Amino acid sequence: MIWAGKRAAIVETCRRMYARGLVSGGQGNVSVRLTDELILITPSGVNKGFIRPEDLVVASMDGRPVDPDLEVSSEIKVHLACYRNRPDCGAVVHAHPVASVALTLAGLSLEPAFLPESVITLGSVPTGRYATPSSVELAQDVGRLAVDHNVIMMERHGAVCLGSDPFMAYDRLESLEHNSRIVLLARTLSQPSPLPDAEVERLRIIAAGMDY
Ligand SMILES: [Zn+2]
Repeated sequence: MIWAGKRAAIVETCRRMYARGLVSGGQGNVSVRLTDELILITPSGVNKGFIRPEDLVVASMDGRPVDPDLEVSSEIKVHLACYRNRPDCGAVVHAHPVASVALTLAGLSLEPAFLPESVITLGSVPTGRYATPSSVELAQDVGRLAVDHNVIMMERHGAVCLGSDPFMAYDRLESLEHNSRIVLLARTLSQPSPLPDAEVERLRIIAAGMDY
């Protein structure tokens, strides 16, 4: 099967997302950049725990499936916006991580850095304006934020993570949710204080040298 390695990487990423409860039902989507003109993306509505390599869809950069009988993910516009705005982006993962989305639902920004690991692995995590899922407005907002962020929250909806390959993008998703669960737990006990600005700056310098 053509693009077998890329298909296997997406299927494995989907299975990890499903196993860790980062998506449910047919939610979430994963893509990789194949060439300057093509991406490979999950189909619409298929449960990520059961997806097969042959279910994946090759699509052009205008969002159309190469095989017209196949149906691309409903959020393909978000993926394409990331690829257009970030030439270095090789893969995009979108999921609905529970604690991270709960923080946006409560009106809390994920930008304050509480944990050094989050500064190193995620950088700053902005939350975009609310927009209807699958809309052009949502894709435009995520694309705007993707210019200088690898992890983006969609208010009341989910997370978008970029990487050079699906495993790097997935690692960012997993780390995001892990950090959000710690922050959420800490908030039930007391009011956690963010890291001092000088320490955040020091961590950013370390992260820049780590090629994350
Ligand atoms: Zn979604």
